[in-house]
Amino acid sequence: MRVPSCTVQATPVAAGIAIGRVMLIHSEAQETKNVTITPEMVPAELERFHTALAITKKELQELQEKLRIKLNDSEADIFEAHLLLVDDRTMVAEVERSISEELFDAESAVYRAVDKFAAAFSAVEDAYLQERAVDVRDVGHRIAVNISEVGPQNLVYDEPRIVIASTLTPSETVGMNREKVLGFAVETGSTTSHTAILARSLKLPAVVGLPRQLLDTLTVADKMIIDGFSGKVIINPDAGTEEAYRLKSREAEEIYRQLRGESDLRAVTTDGFSVEIAANVEFQEDYSEIRKNGAGGIGLFRTEFIFMDEKHLPDEDEQFEIYKKLMISAGNDPVTIRTMDIGGDKLNSGIVRSAEQNPFLGLRGIRLCLRERRDLFEMQLRALIRAGVHGNMQIMLPMVSCMDELLETKEIIARQKVELSRRGVPFADSIPLGVMIETPAAAMTADRFAREADFFSIGSNDLIQYTIASDRSNERVAHLYRPAHPAVLRLIKFTVEEAVKQNIPVAVCGQIAEDMSMVPFLLGLGINELSMSSGAMPLVKRLIRSLSMHECGELVGKALLCDNSADVTLLSQEMISRCAPELLDI
Ligand code: PEP
Ligand code: MG
Repeated sequence: MRVPSCTVQATPVAAGIAIGRVMLIHSEAQETKNVTITPEMVPAELERFHTALAITKKELQELQEKLRIKLNDSEADIFEAHLLLVDDRTMVAEVERSISEELFDAESAVYRAVDKFAAAFSAVEDAYLQERAVDVRDVGHRIAVNISEVGPQNLVYDEPRIVIASTLTPSETVGMNREKVLGFAVETGSTTSHTAILARSLKLPAVVGLPRQLLDTLTVADKMIIDGFSGKVIINPDAGTEEAYRLKSREAEEIYRQLRGESDLRAVTTDGFSVEIAANVEFQEDYSEIRKNGAGGIGLFRTEFIFMDEKHLPDEDEQFEIYKKLMISAGNDPVTIRTMDIGGDKLNSGIVRSAEQNPFLGLRGIRLCLRERRDLFEMQLRALIRAGVHGNMQIMLPMVSCMDELLETKEIIARQKVELSRRGVPFADSIPLGVMIETPAAAMTADRFAREADFFSIGSNDLIQYTIASDRSNERVAHLYRPAHPAVLRLIKFTVEEAVKQNIPVAVCGQIAEDMSMVPFLLGLGINELSMSSGAMPLVKRLIRSLSMHECGELVGKALLCDNSADVTLLSQEMISRCAPELLDI
């Protein structure tokens, strides 16, 4: 049965409009029980279920064996009960029925069968049998986890669809088949969560904050419109609404087409100051396409996404080929490659050795590289300096919070050069090494860093989260996560002033570089380069061409005296409505 037509307000995180039927997907992080499939997907789902059953059985036997060695037979026999459940014909038949007849995907079918059996055990007035309910849930969960590891949900749908999910991890997003996805509507997340960043990179419309209730009721038969400009989500629209959105989508495309037509024009203010515009890259993309959108280089290549496949970590040569291809395609344009920023919400269980209570404050980025995965870090640095001979490369370090991290990396790079010379392998000898300013600690010691680093790039997504102590991917504190917070402006101001003293450039590569209401402040603060998703470049360039640097400087003076971010934002909105009113509607 289809859900009645309705409209809900979510939060827009990637521009554009998507119209299509939905595909609800299981997330690693969640026990969804109502993911439906189309009849043609039944054989593939049955296969996933049976493969996972076999893996679970093997796992339990191995666990039993280990326990037998460490403890004694009676402890090991706990797993006997679990093994019996895996083989239980009634349970297996129930899951098969749920997949084939009710058209639930394998994980949902397992969780539903588990609910049924566990409820039956719990209802019996016998302490022993009631305990079995716990076993059933335990085994069920183990099977479901193994199903998701057997492979991503089958995306063999008849047509591309809008992905809806409670949570989507960056690795799930990276693993998705681009051709099969029209857009994303997700319950959790925010503009700067990495899933939103990836959606923008894929140029797919996306919203977050989809109500839970919809996730529980929508099926593959339901249609949806997501408006990535306003955040509106329309379920089962009538023909008139659908047509109106198709028109809106065509109009938006037309405006972007016109803006792209100006992409060769430089980003120069009305009083003659120019700002470099560069692209953020998350996938192995063709730079010529990025350049067409108006980029003068790559300001941030987030290399961690090439390490997201848990089954395969690229070795030195494979990485070298990826970096080399990018360098060659960029020609003389500068390419800033960030060493892997694994941790936080970007996890790979093959790299990160232990789960953390608070991963955003944990062993993330340079910390992980220096403390726990120096092997991978050294390998990446070797691949980078080798590829550096093919173009104009800069290397950048993420999540730096103290000077030792930069100095230690310099030593490692020096050692890798010795190693490559010994092997007779060519490498670039003088690649600029910069740090991301994305912790308040780095910003407040910018005077020291500026003496050792060749450039700065402000990672505002993290700088805001750590300055305001507001998790960037938690929608519950999104009201506090304010780019225009005077504290953030002050940190950027100090960073730029110290960089100027040492004559090193400062870029911004976080989301604020493409946030229209923040761009006037960044210009006024003296930022040299703005790096952003390539879709946003034409718009930001047009805005810069409408602004005066002199006025932006004055605006910053006023903003620094404001009490709160709302007052700061009003200042820039007033300026944009005066200087570039045509951009307000986009
Ligand atoms: C940032 O923090 O602003 C940044 C660019 O890095 P990431 O979003 O990948 O953390
Ligand atoms: Mg960051």
